[in-house]
Amino acid sequence: MVGHAGGATTVEVGMQVDRKIIEELEAIAKGCVRIDEPMARHTSLGLGGPVDIFVEPPDGAALKQCAALVAGEGIPLTVLGRGTNLLVRSGGLAGAVVTAGSAFTDLARTEDGIRAGSGIALTRILGFCVECGLSGLEGLAGIPGSVGGAVVTNAGSFGVSMGELLTEVVVFEPGGSSVSMPAGELAFEYRRSHLPGDSIVEVVSIALEAADPESVQVRQRETLEKKWKSQPAGMRSAGCVFRNPPGRSAGKIIDEIGLKGTRIGGAVVSDLHAGFILNDRGATAEEVEELIGLVRSRVREETGIQLELEVEIVGRRRH
Ligand SMILES: Cc1cc2nc3c(=O)[nH]c(=O)nc-3n(C[C@H](O)[C@H](O)[C@H](O)COP(=O)(O)OP(=O)(O)OC[C@H]3O[C@@H](n4cnc5c(N)ncnc54)[C@H](O)[C@@H]3O)c2cc1C
Repeated sequence: MVGHAGGATTVEVGMQVDRKIIEELEAIAKGCVRIDEPMARHTSLGLGGPVDIFVEPPDGAALKQCAALVAGEGIPLTVLGRGTNLLVRSGGLAGAVVTAGSAFTDLARTEDGIRAGSGIALTRILGFCVECGLSGLEGLAGIPGSVGGAVVTNAGSFGVSMGELLTEVVVFEPGGSSVSMPAGELAFEYRRSHLPGDSIVEVVSIALEAADPESVQVRQRETLEKKWKSQPAGMRSAGCVFRNPPGRSAGKIIDEIGLKGTRIGGAVVSDLHAGFILNDRGATAEEVEELIGLVRSRVREETGIQLELEVEIVGRRRH
């Protein structure tokens, strides 16, 4: 499974991990394979049970080989960016998680912007934009994800979204070869992209405008300051849990019906931004999911609006 659009995804079947496959993965990604790795270590919510196999390939070639091996064996595959848009349930994930963070890390200036590996953090990209004097991404300041995650979720804020700035996306399907696609073919929608099949984002080209580095830095800082005032910085969350309904703000709707501060166990609706659900007192994934359900049903009862998920819920329920 490689999740591309947001929304609930559930892997129901547990896996018996074949020792031979682990050895083959070890041979490709030496010292980078872990068994029963807690996903809580790899998500911004700090939640999630173990994944059967966790691989952190050291480079792109190793990632492709690992992904091909896993997919070829019919093992469910999840590509992980920085885990900032995921709620992983306590029963963990069946199959393998392969992380892009150490694999696709190239970053270079191009004639009309930058070319960036999918494993790079957006914050690093923003720093590079200041260094090079490139404008366009300032509205994305403060989004803690990777380039790959931002492409897949078409991350955006303050009127800018990733998809609209991309010119080219190089993807590969496990076992296949790398294909360069004009970004227009990915049919970006609000917080959604349409990558072909189970493809993995490798590298992207982003079109940006030359600008005075200082003014780029000032605009990035302005974005950050607005977010620090309106969002719970430094708390464990996965950002906005719900998509904004057309023309409305999900956070405002939740606030208007008085749900700020609503709590289930260690999970609470943020007092600062009602679209954020925080793990503030050792919540379980189930408490967060229950609170999401409660917010959705209260909003439906009071307004008739069915809130859709922006956060992606994955994994097995704990038995
Ligand atoms: C405090 C906070 C603030 C946030 N603010 C915003 C905001 O303003 N706007 C916004 O849009 N989002 C926001 N988010 C949500 C999140 O940061 C974004 O959705 C981000 O783009 C996710 O990137 P990631 O690397 O963490 O992806 P992950 O959570 O790791 O993965 C997300 C999805 O992308 C897939 N994926 C990741 N990398 C690849 C790859 N290389 N190839 C194929 N599939 C891949 C995963 O399988 C998964 O389906 C916020 C989150 C937090 C915690």
